[in-house]
Amino acid sequence: MHKRKRILVTGGAGFLGSHLCERLVNEGNDVICVDNFYTGSKDNIIGLLNNPHFELMRHDVTFPLYVEVDEIYNLACPASPVHYQYDPVQTTKTSVHGAINMLGLAKRTGAKIFQASTSEVYGDPVVHPQHESYNGNVNPIGPRSCYDEGKRCAETLFFDYKRQHNLNIRVVRIFNTYGPRMHPNDGRVVSNFIMQALRGEAITIYGDGQQTRSFCYVDDLIEGFIRMMDANDDISGPINLGNPSEFTIKQLAEAIINLTGAKSELIKQPLPEDDPLKRQPDITIAKQQLDWQPSIDLEAGLTKTIDYFRAFVDS
Ligand code: NAD
Ligand code: UDP
Repeated sequence: MHKRKRILVTGGAGFLGSHLCERLVNEGNDVICVDNFYTGSKDNIIGLLNNPHFELMRHDVTFPLYVEVDEIYNLACPASPVHYQYDPVQTTKTSVHGAINMLGLAKRTGAKIFQASTSEVYGDPVVHPQHESYNGNVNPIGPRSCYDEGKRCAETLFFDYKRQHNLNIRVVRIFNTYGPRMHPNDGRVVSNFIMQALRGEAITIYGDGQQTRSFCYVDDLIEGFIRMMDANDDISGPINLGNPSEFTIKQLAEAIINLTGAKSELIKQPLPEDDPLKRQPDITIAKQQLDWQPSIDLEAGLTKTIDYFRAFVDS
């Protein structure tokens, strides 16, 4: 019989967190969602608020937290460059102090703990595609560093807590993920382009649009999260999770124009400092250790995402 687990999700009112909370509650668990609503919102979890197996706590993970749980998914951290650069000191604190607080909680309770790390730990990679063994090419003092180095330090803390205190840790490195409940104004490329297309505005390509990203649909990613948490205890990661299908930003813009039927023109804007030129996950380890690979292609995923965003334009 399925045992109802007590599961903490930090950043649970955000884009990925809300999908994860939904999945965990639907699987018969008790979920505590912790969020300070910096980029997340109650709207993302509105369907769960009346569920007795879901509990929402307004809390900032840079402060200690005392709850009793069996598992912790640590997702709290703004993910969009616009938002994480708005208050960079708070971004680093969220990653580093947040990790220390959640690891301390895991140590006291004996909970298994999962960290949402990022492909940004590879920086602007000189190895392509990126394998977990690549140590990255990260600028420690640039505008993206608060996020990249904060996440790298969080990984260090996770592995030191494992070595020093024998914690049961799970670290995944997430590559660009998109889908319903991304914030329409969060500045990330998929939400920007869809909103611009649906409003008939020009599509803003930063740089020449030849930089690449590999886009994973949210449902695929959440399946990877669950498999990672439920994997054998000898699996700690880090494991890349993402869709290896790589597109230029210009190709993404064209796909969104086709799917929306928009008449938008493409306009060029300056490439932000330290913007990585290419990014593609090597998911060999995820396939081998988690039997996981994405199943939703860009067209199918964008179609669902565009449907979600239409409500923001029509209303
Ligand atoms: P998001 O901004 O939608 O969600 C982050 C959530 O964390 C929000 O609800 C926000 O309010 C909350 N939060 C921020 N600071 C907090 C704090 N100090 N205390 C409590 N809550 C706080 O972003 P997302 O895309 O859902 O990302 C979730 C996690 O996944 C992040 O850790 C992010 O770094 C990681 N990630 C996401 C992607 C992606 O493509 N979506 C890629 C790599 C890594
Ligand atoms: N980008 C763009 N136009 C936009 C927003 C983003 O061309 O309106 C580019 C950005 O410069 C980057 C890529 O799209 O090369 C992905 O940006 P995003 O902010 O989504 O995430 P990143 O992968 O850079 O963290």
